[in-house]
This record gives sequence, structure tokens and C-alpha cells, in this order.
Amino acid sequence: MISKKMVGLVKGSSVIRAMFEEGKQMAKKFGAENVFDFSLGNPNVPAPKAVNENIKKIVDSENPVVLHGYMSNAGYEDVREAIAQSLNTRFDTAFTSKNIIMTVGAAGGLNVALKSILDPGDEVMVIAPYFGEYKNYVSNFDGVLVAVNPNPPTFEPNYADFEAKISKKTKAVIINNPNNPTGVIYKKEWIEKLAAILDRKQKELDTCIYLISDEPYRELVFKDVEVPYLTKYYKNTIVGYSYSKSLSLPGERIGYLVVPSEADSFDDLISAMGVATRILGFVNAPSLQQKLIKESLNEKTDIEAYNKNRIKLYEGLKALGFECVEPEGAFYLFMKAPIDDDMEFVKVAKEYNILMVPASSFGVKGYVRIAYCVAYSTIERSLPQFAKLAKRYNL
Ligand code: PLP
Repeated sequence: MISKKMVGLVKGSSVIRAMFEEGKQMAKKFGAENVFDFSLGNPNVPAPKAVNENIKKIVDSENPVVLHGYMSNAGYEDVREAIAQSLNTRFDTAFTSKNIIMTVGAAGGLNVALKSILDPGDEVMVIAPYFGEYKNYVSNFDGVLVAVNPNPPTFEPNYADFEAKISKKTKAVIINNPNNPTGVIYKKEWIEKLAAILDRKQKELDTCIYLISDEPYRELVFKDVEVPYLTKYYKNTIVGYSYSKSLSLPGERIGYLVVPSEADSFDDLISAMGVATRILGFVNAPSLQQKLIKESLNEKTDIEAYNKNRIKLYEGLKALGFECVEPEGAFYLFMKAPIDDDMEFVKVAKEYNILMVPASSFGVKGYVRIAYCVAYSTIERSLPQFAKLAKRYNL
């Protein structure tokens, strides 16, 4: 018998994953070129060539006992120091290896952070629409997810609702920048407003509220917009980073957490994160991948491929009469469904072999998410199908 908690989690298991499986079945039935699967955020741009070369170099040159061995739970010190110095150069921060914990991707990092700070019943705020997995991560540690109402069409945070929902039990706020699913970038002015509210509420309630910035898409930016580095705006920040999207390595499971030295309970928090990494069963982030990151810190993915897709899809859908949020970052386009029921719209779109994720999976109704990390030709061939869909709704 599996646990009661798992029964619920299995039942509510990711719509996105289910759709990905359905896409594979449809491809078998109709031919892969006739199925337009925009469901999963799996990078279609290969990792930079240097990444594979670096892996070979490391395997050939490192002592295998060290390379494949255990290390400190926080990760290799030289890798953490190299990451700290890279951040300092780019963001004018002052980190050292002490501020960095290597993680098993962003998902691993978020779980380590939440395990370290949550007591049962503590509240974690998210801003809708939000990455659906946050609900599961918070529930892993018996926390309670509190969602701030969405603010379409810009999806700038609803500050009044944000402030009203902060309580004595609020332990953390998770934001995701650039945003999955909207593709919106949280601007400096937005961050300043959120930070001011958090500072005020911490004082008023005499609590400590951590702002967790989930940033796997930090490098995927297509407009001339800065993605603010949050430790500069709010001291109780925890940054979660991952190379899943920025170096197209989602299956390799590598990322890191950053905690600035000025954060409340810094020493305790860093120790707790090391222990959390171990007792959650990760023990440490993958050794080879850590060493790879040190060698690949200046490598970049081919952003232009995503940008070309973004422009074609956004312009194409707008021309057909669909209302879309202009994507600024990540590789998602958030489109308004022509009917209120996004689940029904997604079902109808499937008749045209188009797979999209209903926004209900992200805590919002009436929108769909289109992941455009696909071949450019898929986007080109999908537009006539989207045209039929538009016609069906008299757009
Ligand atoms: N956070 C967000 C917003 C994501 O979109 C994803 C993956 O799609 C993750 C976290 C998990 O990333 P990782 O593969 O690094 O665990």
C-alpha cells in the first residue's frame, strides 16, 4: 500500500508530463511531423559543443577515485568558489564558496531550501501563475501554499493582494524570473516594490521571510531588459539556479543555491542546507557535473534559435487574432484561451494535433502555455493548424 499522501500526489500528477506521453502516442498514430507538441519545457537546442568536450577532458584527466567519489555535501569547494567569482563579476556581488551549495538542479535546490526552513503549517507564497511543481515541493515539508491573485495582462505582481496575504506564518515567498509560464521578466521596479513590502511586513510581524528566487531561465532573455539579482534588493534572499535550460542539461541534474552572508541565521541556514542535501537522499550534487560547470562557466546556449521561434509564434498567433502576452524571457508563450475554460480549449486544440498546457496547471484560468523550445519547422507547420483553431472560435 502506498501512503495516503502519495495517493493524492499521484492522482494530481503533472498534467504536463501526461500530455508529453500523449504527444508521443499521437506522433506514432499521425506521424511526428503532423503533431505539434508544445507541452514540455525540454530544451531543443543542444548543449554547447564545449560542454561535451569538457566532459571528455575531465574524464580523461581526473583521478577516477576522486572524480567518482563522495565529497562535502555542499559540493566541491573550488567549484563553489569559481561560481561565486563568476557571480561577483557579473552582478557586482561579494560571494565566496561559503555562499554556494551545489544542488541536483533547481528542483533539488528548492527542496533543499524548503526542507531547511519550513515547519509544518508554515506558509509559502507564490504569485499566480506559478510553476505547478511548487505545490508539491511545499507539500513535501507539510507547508501550505498561498497564491497571490494573477494580474493580467502584464502579470506584474498584484502588490495589494501580496501584502494582504502575508501572515505571521509566512516563511517564504517563491518568485520565478524569467517566468514560467508567462515568459514575463520581473523588472527592477517590481522587485523593489516586493522587497519594500517584505521588509515592512518582517518588521511589523517580527518574523523572517525568505524570498526564494527560482532562476533556471536567467540567461534566456530576448529583450533589452535586466533580470535583477535579488540579493542586492533584499537580504533574506535565497537564489536557486540551474543549468537545465541555460546549458541544455536537464537530465544531468546540476544547479546551485546562493545565500548571501547578510541573510538572517546565515550560518544555521547554510549548515541546514548541507544536511538537507544529504538527508533528502541527494547526498551531494553529481560530481562530474560539478566539475563540468567549473570548466563551462562562460559557455552559452544558442539563444537566437529560441528567439527566432518566439518571434514567429508570437507574430503568427497575434495575426490570427489570438491574444498573447509578449514573451520576454524563458521559452514559453502565454496565450489567452478564446473561452473561459482552458481545459476545454486544450481538448479542442488536440483535435488539430496541437498540444498545449492549460493554465489551470499554473493556478490561473483562461490561458494556455505554449513551450516553443521546438524545431522552427514545427512552429511554421503549426500555424495553419492554429488558423483552423482560430476559425473554430470565430477570431
Ligand atoms: N523551476 C521552474 C520554474 C522550472 O520551469 C523548472 C523546470 O522546468 C524547474 C524549476 C526545475 O528545473 P530543474 O530541471 O533544474 O530541476
